[in-house]
Amino acid sequence: MHSSSDPIGEFELIQRFFKTGADAMNPKSEIGLGIGDDCALIQASSNEEIAITTDMLVEGRHFFVGADPELLGRKALAVNLSDLAAMGATPLGFTLALALPDADQVWLEAFSKGLFSIAKQFSCSLIGGDTTAGPLTISITALGTLPKGEAIQRSGAKPGDDIWVSGELGDARLALAALRHEISLPEVDLKQIEHRMHQPIPRVELGTHLRGVATAALDISDGLLGDLKHILSQSKVDAQIRIDQLPKSAILLKQDSSIQNQFAACGGDDYEICFTADKHQRDAIEHISKTLNLPLTRIGQTIAIKSDAANIEILNSDGKPLSDAETLSLMKSFDHFK
Ligand code: ADP
Ligand code: MG
Repeated sequence: MHSSSDPIGEFELIQRFFKTGADAMNPKSEIGLGIGDDCALIQASSNEEIAITTDMLVEGRHFFVGADPELLGRKALAVNLSDLAAMGATPLGFTLALALPDADQVWLEAFSKGLFSIAKQFSCSLIGGDTTAGPLTISITALGTLPKGEAIQRSGAKPGDDIWVSGELGDARLALAALRHEISLPEVDLKQIEHRMHQPIPRVELGTHLRGVATAALDISDGLLGDLKHILSQSKVDAQIRIDQLPKSAILLKQDSSIQNQFAACGGDDYEICFTADKHQRDAIEHISKTLNLPLTRIGQTIAIKSDAANIEILNSDGKPLSDAETLSLMKSFDHFK
């Protein structure tokens, strides 16, 4: 038993206080999937499912005090669409719950401009919400549609699948490090990567193309290695990752190799899609990459589970495993409560 003062992590918290209670309710049969994936799934008709996801942004935690409201409006919706993308869902609509310290019209004008630019780009309508006074908090619930049974869940990976990732990893973390003065980055370099932190692109088209191709998928919000563990634990497989294969931008490649690896492997806010697929799908995936003009990189493979833990073996460019100490220093994924 934990005492009430023991610190618990975000996932243990959800499991203990919410998932256990939700499971105990014997959900109605229309609820195809509940807590634990990027979205919940509800059967809408005999051939369609609705994917539902909520993400919240809190001032001082997810964005700096005084952050540009237009960029915030874009990001608040984009991170939700990223969860829809991870399931392969097509955006349908969203609700917006806002806590605002005051009704600053200049702020609201810019925020709604950013919000609707993403809403229009991805044909996702605002359908309701709630507004209250309080510390600046933006919570969005987004809904998407899927052909029944085609959602890409975290639980579908098989041993021997390839592990893939979209785009490039680590630049959002690099921008954050530069803005926090944790590292020094020339202004021109920062300018080139800052959008990766402020304006993530939800990989919605990729998600729909991966239906029927990927065996499992998720969007990377808290760092590749930490998030990949959710696929591993739900699919009951382990993984081997080639650290030198992680896709990195030219700007990140200018950093020390330890920074490169840590930011690409564990930096937060990438909003790329990590997915698994049978080896026979390699040509199909190369084709999707060309069609969408989006790099898709093979970074490793899943292997049969050795113990209960969703274990990730990290290999160097020579194919040899990193030492335990090297692995530990890489594996610092982001947990909001630890
Ligand atoms: P993601 O990073 O993909 O948005 P999270 O890590 O936030 O997912 O959440 C993991 C899972 O736990 C999701 O299925 C989410 O819906 C669920 N979850 C998170 N917080 C709560 C909560 N307070 N009550 C019920 N379910 C929750
Ligand atoms: Mg997600």
